[in-house]
Amino acid sequence: MPMLLPPFDQDTPLFRGNLHGHTVHSDGEKTSMEVMNFYQDLGYDFIALSDHLWDDVSFASTTINDTRDLDRDDFVTIPSAELHCLGKRYDQDGLWHLVANGLPLDFKMANRDETVTQMISRAREAGAYVSIAHPEWYAMTTDEAIMASSAHAVEVFNYSATIESGRGLGIGTADILLHEGKRISFTATDDAHFRSQDAGGGWIMVGSDDLTSSSLVDAIKDGRHYSSTGAEIHALLMEGDALHVSCSPANHIIVSGIGYAALSAQGQNMTYADFDLSSFASPYFRITVIGKNGQTAWSNPYWLDQLR
Ligand SMILES: [Zn+2]
Ligand SMILES: [Zn+2]
Repeated sequence: MPMLLPPFDQDTPLFRGNLHGHTVHSDGEKTSMEVMNFYQDLGYDFIALSDHLWDDVSFASTTINDTRDLDRDDFVTIPSAELHCLGKRYDQDGLWHLVANGLPLDFKMANRDETVTQMISRAREAGAYVSIAHPEWYAMTTDEAIMASSAHAVEVFNYSATIESGRGLGIGTADILLHEGKRISFTATDDAHFRSQDAGGGWIMVGSDDLTSSSLVDAIKDGRHYSSTGAEIHALLMEGDALHVSCSPANHIIVSGIGYAALSAQGQNMTYADFDLSSFASPYFRITVIGKNGQTAWSNPYWLDQLR
């Protein structure tokens, strides 16, 4: 039987949103309302105003930004924060950065002794979807990635780190964790501060039952989303060992697995590709779609033992 892979197995359209961004509540330049209006004008359905939660007032706040009053029928905010704790190498302040989406508003910042593992557990137990933010931006080591691998996800694309620091990717870190057997998902985000034109460059598309914060968080915890900088994945269909990918016009459609395992289709403005996975020796695969101007979409990893 042909099987559509999540989130493409539902009839309703996917919701578009940004999971990582900042306002004047911490070190962003715009108010929560201004940020919300900006994204709604761009056609987004939801955002997370993940202001920094830490006691250094130069960039952070000790409280979570309460954005519930901004929610409307057709646009919602997810209570969120960028969590910090001590112990990160290669960061001038020695701070870890983890994005937590779906936090209770009374969630407390880390104390001086809390480790990154403890902080991730605490955020997960509070109900949040936790992602390793911008690993490339602050030179996350492999040991550190493994230390933080109880997070749900790795940010594989961070727009502001890409355009302001020249190091906004995270796919290498994500791949290491997949090789370690960690069943992580991916996110693409803006991490917008509105200091530059750093909004609208990276987002996720979520297959959620409805447009509420709790349904969206449940869906991303289930991996019912894909990440994008402009390319679209329209469907992923498995039939036996055959994988059918349909997408926005692309010049490269790639299936990646462990080690150097990869299959690819190359062409001009392809809107689909078929792959035979019968001799694809990898416990998981993930899809990358690249358009002619470099715009990219990343599927989450699919583990074969969960598909069959
Ligand atoms: Zn950060
Ligand atoms: Zn941030």
